[in-house]
Amino acid sequence: MKSIRIGLTNNSPTPLLHERCYVSGKGGLSVSGFLASKEQLDNNDLGQALFTRVFNDQCLIEVKDKTLTIKNSASVSTNTFSLSCGLKTNSIKLFAVAMIKSPSGTLTISENQNSPLAKTYVGQLMIIADQSKIRTVLFHTLEEYVQSVLHGEIPTTYHLEAIKAQAICARTYALNPRVNHKPDFCNVCDSYLCCQCFIEKPCKPNSPYEIATVETEKQILTYQSQPALALFSSCAGGHTENYEDCFSDLESKAFPASPIPYLKGVSETLNDPKAQGVIDESFLKELWQKQEPQTFDAWSKNFRWLVKLSKQDLESHIHHNLSQLIKQEDFALFVVPPQSGMFGEILSMNIIKRGVGGTAVKLKIETSKGAWEVKKELAIRKLFKNQNLNLKRLASAKVFFDQIKDDKGQLTNLHIYGLGSGHGVGLQQVGAEGLARLGRNYSDILSHYYAQAKIEKI
Ligand SMILES: [Zn+2]
Repeated sequence: MKSIRIGLTNNSPTPLLHERCYVSGKGGLSVSGFLASKEQLDNNDLGQALFTRVFNDQCLIEVKDKTLTIKNSASVSTNTFSLSCGLKTNSIKLFAVAMIKSPSGTLTISENQNSPLAKTYVGQLMIIADQSKIRTVLFHTLEEYVQSVLHGEIPTTYHLEAIKAQAICARTYALNPRVNHKPDFCNVCDSYLCCQCFIEKPCKPNSPYEIATVETEKQILTYQSQPALALFSSCAGGHTENYEDCFSDLESKAFPASPIPYLKGVSETLNDPKAQGVIDESFLKELWQKQEPQTFDAWSKNFRWLVKLSKQDLESHIHHNLSQLIKQEDFALFVVPPQSGMFGEILSMNIIKRGVGGTAVKLKIETSKGAWEVKKELAIRKLFKNQNLNLKRLASAKVFFDQIKDDKGQLTNLHIYGLGSGHGVGLQQVGAEGLARLGRNYSDILSHYYAQAKIEKI
C-alpha cells in the first residue's frame, strides 16, 4: 500500500519548523537514530541505525548547537542520546534523523510539555534536524490519510456520493499538491491553510468516511495520465471559478497564472441560461436577493452573507491592512499604490475586474491621495480583516458593494454583500452535496467540476 509523508505544522506561525517536540506512546517508545543525506531521506533509505533505544516515558526531542538530543522529559541526567547534524562527509550534508514508533501504534505529539494542543496520531514519526530547527513528519498509508482528510474537510452527514467525490479529491491532492513540499521532506502538510485539513480521529467501523475511502480505493483524478491538481473549496456561491482568476503562478508569482484545462468555472444554476456566461454584478445581486435561488449550493448557510463597515472601520482598518499586505512577500505584488504612494480619505471602492464566476479579481480604492489597486481574491479578502468584527478575511471575494456617501462625496459606510466561502475553484463541497441529493453519483459530480479530468486507479 502506498505510504505518504505528512509534515506536521500544528498551524503554528513557522509552519513546518519547530524548536522542539514532546512525544509519548502507550507502552513506551522505540527510537532509532540515523545520520542521512538529502538523497537518502528522499529515497526512504536511511541505512543502518546508529542506535535504537526504548523509552518508557515521554521523550523531549530538540536541536541545540547543531546537535539533536533525545531524552526522557521527566529525567534531567539519564537516557540522553545525541546526534550531531550538519556534518559534511565528502561535501555531503548530513541530517540527524530519529525514527519513532510505539508498540501501541499511536503517538501523542506536542510542541510544549503537557500541552492541551497535543495530538494523537497513528503511524511512525520521523524527526529531521537541520542545524537549529526540527521537522516532524508522520508516515501514513495513502488510504489512512484520505480518511483523516475526510474528517477534517467534509461533514459525516453529507451524502455518501459527495463524500466519495471528496475522497478522490483528497487522494489526488496528496499525490499532486499545489505547494511543492519536497524541500520539507514530505508530500503534504497537515494545514488547511496550505494543503488539506488533516484531522486524525478514530473512525467507527462502517462510518461514511471509511465506506467512502474503501469504495473509491486507489481512485484518483488524472489529466493526461498524471494526477490532476484537485483543488476544492467550501461553497462557490452559484458558480465556480477558473483557476487563473484566483491563483498566481507558484514560481514566478505572476498573476493571473496559466490556465489549467480541467479547472474551469462552471455554473451551479439548474436552468438559467444567464448563468452559463460570465457572471456579472447584476447576476450576483439577483442571486443574493432571490428567496430560493435554483442552484446546487443555495441550501448552504454560507451561500450569502453581509458585512457592514462603518466609516471608522474603513478608515482605521483598510489603510492598516494595505500597509501590512504590501510588506508581505506573498501579497506585495498584488497591491499597486498610486504615484503619491499615500493613502487619503476613501472616496469609493469598485471591483473593476471579475472572474468567470463573478469573483473579484481587481479592486480599485479611490482615495483623496490617489487610487490603490488590489489584485487576486485572497489579497482582496484579507484587505477587509477587522478585529472589531472578529473578521480574519472575507468569506469569499464574490462580492458587490453598497456605498453610502456623505454630502462631500466621501464614503461613510460600506455594505459588502457576499456569496459563498473559499476560492471557488474545482469541486465545491456544498455543491457536491446538492448534486448528490439530486441523485448524481461521485463520478458525475467529479466530471461536473473537473470536466476534462478522468478517474483512474493508481
Ligand atoms: Zn502544505
